[in-house]
Amino acid sequence: MDTNIGTKLSKGMELQFKNLAWNLLLRVCMKYSNSNNKQIHQVTTTDEVLKLRQQGLSHKQIAIKLGFNRCTVSTFIRKNNIDKDIQWCKPEANTTSFKARIDNGEQGIVEEWLTTKVYPFIKKTKECWEWSEKTNTKGYGHVNGILNNPITLHKLMYAVNTNKLNKYGIPCISGFVLHKCDNKLCCNPAHLYEGTAKDNFEDMRERGQLSSVMSNQKLVSDVITIDEMKRLYYEEKLTQTEIGNKLGFKQVTVSAFMKKYNI
Ligand SMILES: [Zn+2]
Repeated sequence: MDTNIGTKLSKGMELQFKNLAWNLLLRVCMKYSNSNNKQIHQVTTTDEVLKLRQQGLSHKQIAIKLGFNRCTVSTFIRKNNIDKDIQWCKPEANTTSFKARIDNGEQGIVEEWLTTKVYPFIKKTKECWEWSEKTNTKGYGHVNGILNNPITLHKLMYAVNTNKLNKYGIPCISGFVLHKCDNKLCCNPAHLYEGTAKDNFEDMRERGQLSSVMSNQKLVSDVITIDEMKRLYYEEKLTQTEIGNKLGFKQVTVSAFMKKYNI
C-alpha cells in the first residue's frame, strides 16, 4: 500500500513538474519573441519594411539586413499586415529594368542596384564583411550584375571603394583583387588589395589552395579566364611571351592553354 501511494505521489509530482517546466519554457519563448518584436520596432518602421518588400526582398533577406532571425521578421510582417499591400508592386523591381533605365540616361541606377541587390546581403562584423548569398565554384561570393553578368563580391566591393565601376556597375580592374584575411566570403575593402596574377598565384600557393600535382594548364585557368586571355591576345595584341610574363608562366604553357581552349 505504502509503495503504491508513493508511486501515485511521485507520478503526481512528475506531472506537476512537467507542467511547470512546460509553462516556464512557453513563457521564456513568448518573452523572447515579444522582446524581439519590441526590438525590431526600435530599429525599423512598418513603412521601411514595406519598402524593402516592394523592392523584392524576401523575409530572410530583410532579417539579415536588420540583424534579426527570419521568424521575428515574419511575425512582424504578419502582425502589421505588411505583405497584404505588396503583391501588385513587385514586378517593377527586377534587374532587367536597371539596364533600360541606365540606357535611358537615368542617374544613380548603379547605386540603387547596390543598395537593393548587394548591400542588404552583406553581414558586417567588426572584422570581415561576409556575403550571405550565392557563392561560385571556387567558394567566393557571387552576384548577378545588371547585365546578368557574374561578378565576384570582393572584386565588386573593392571597385566600389576605389571608384572603378563602369556605368553598368561592372568592376574595371585589370589586376586581381586578393584577400589579406583568409576568408573567401569577405568583401570588406579594408581586407582587400590589388595584385598581379603572379601575386594571386603565389597567394594561393601559400594558402595551400594549389596542389603541386596540378598541370600547368590547369594553373593558367586558375589565374585567368578564357575571355580575359582572348582579350589580352586579340584586343591588347600581346604576344604569348608577353602574356606569359604578365601571368608568370612560360610561353609554351600559354600556347598549350590557348590551343586547348581554341583561343
Ligand atoms: Zn576579411
